[in-house]
Amino acid sequence: MKHSDLLKIAEKFGDPVYVYDSEKIISQFQRLTNAFKSVKKLKLNYAAKALSNITILRLMNSLGSGLDTVSIQEVQLGLLAGFKPESIIFTPNGVSLEEIEEAAKLGVRINIDNLSILEQFGSKHPSIPVCIRINPHVMAGGNSNISVGHIDSKFGISIHQIPHLLRIVELTKMNINGIHMHTGSDILDIDVFLYASEILFETAKNFKNLDFIDFGSGFKVPYKEADIETNIEELGKKLSTRFNEFCKEYGKELTLAFEPGKFLVSEAGSFLAKVNVVKQTTSTVFASIDSGFNHLIRPMLYGSYHKIQNISNPEGRERYYSVVGYICETDTFASNRRINEIAEGDILQFKNAGAYCFTMASNYNSRFRPPEVLWHKGKAILIRERETFDDLIRNQVDASDLFPSAKEDKKLTTQP
Ligand SMILES: *Cc1c(COP(=O)(O)O)cnc(C)c1O
Repeated sequence: MKHSDLLKIAEKFGDPVYVYDSEKIISQFQRLTNAFKSVKKLKLNYAAKALSNITILRLMNSLGSGLDTVSIQEVQLGLLAGFKPESIIFTPNGVSLEEIEEAAKLGVRINIDNLSILEQFGSKHPSIPVCIRINPHVMAGGNSNISVGHIDSKFGISIHQIPHLLRIVELTKMNINGIHMHTGSDILDIDVFLYASEILFETAKNFKNLDFIDFGSGFKVPYKEADIETNIEELGKKLSTRFNEFCKEYGKELTLAFEPGKFLVSEAGSFLAKVNVVKQTTSTVFASIDSGFNHLIRPMLYGSYHKIQNISNPEGRERYYSVVGYICETDTFASNRRINEIAEGDILQFKNAGAYCFTMASNYNSRFRPPEVLWHKGKAILIRERETFDDLIRNQVDASDLFPSAKEDKKLTTQP
């Protein structure tokens, strides 16, 4: 997107504002599809939690994507966005049996990640096929909070518990239609991923009625120029060859599934915010923006890097800034970052703001969550309005009779 288009959006819809470029989402979807073109049956299930605006879900649906969901509410959003139940897979962690049953009732595919629920679900509903989430105990992922396949992780059924798993399947006579792993975000080493895949293939041989093998996601996207990223094309070549071989061995054309979130939407998103104050202190120059970690928490939560550009002065000479938010505690987006000279009122663009940005936004400090705009075929379309004061108080019950306002004269009684 051009800087001038972004500036027009900030002017028209106000700031801060999230902007998503549909063309980038579509090209990422096609890139991943192409990388696996030698696999007969490929299914990409977009991970809704990355960015769950209904218009984005509709866009994914129109591309032929399925949907990966982690809560019953995401299932409901998916159905509302037009996904067929069979195109939705429910992959929760640690949710109740009731929630899983509710999803099954809606007709979506079920992925179970612990033996306790597997046994209960299989005993009650042996006729409903389920997929199982395996933990291959492989360390992948860029940060301990987002690495979910290692030995201490709460996710998945350990490969060391396969004998117990098989006993449950045999006793309940349930049907396992898929196996799944998701090793964590920001995978860099393809060989580690392929190694985990071998464990999945080995596990798959225990089940006779599989329809699909789901390799999860966690592809690393670039955050700055010349940044490392998962080599999707190389992974596609290597894993496709291995997958096709496995299908021959298995005696059935299985579906190869992925659940990309970040890969599809991260780079498509920009977050635009205005600089309120440029503050020179004894040690640094702060640029304080009209937002904070209430709107974009990834730098504070994970130490994530978001490239920041001053789109109001893209040709200005570069200086060092610490970009900070207005939340009343430490709220740092970037320290000592070289950015084109900033004046108060300039608009900063935060890149890679498509995944895990708006969906993690909150009302902390009683601020409104920002609007979302889709940039599609050269037009800016509002897909979520900025919140208003009514949104902040909508669910609050004002028990005003409990605490009548203090009277003026009483207020002074403790004073000398
Ligand atoms: C979050 C999640 C994903 C998406 O991960 P990305 O790193 O955004 O691609 C996929 N599958 C499951 C089960 C998840 O929880």
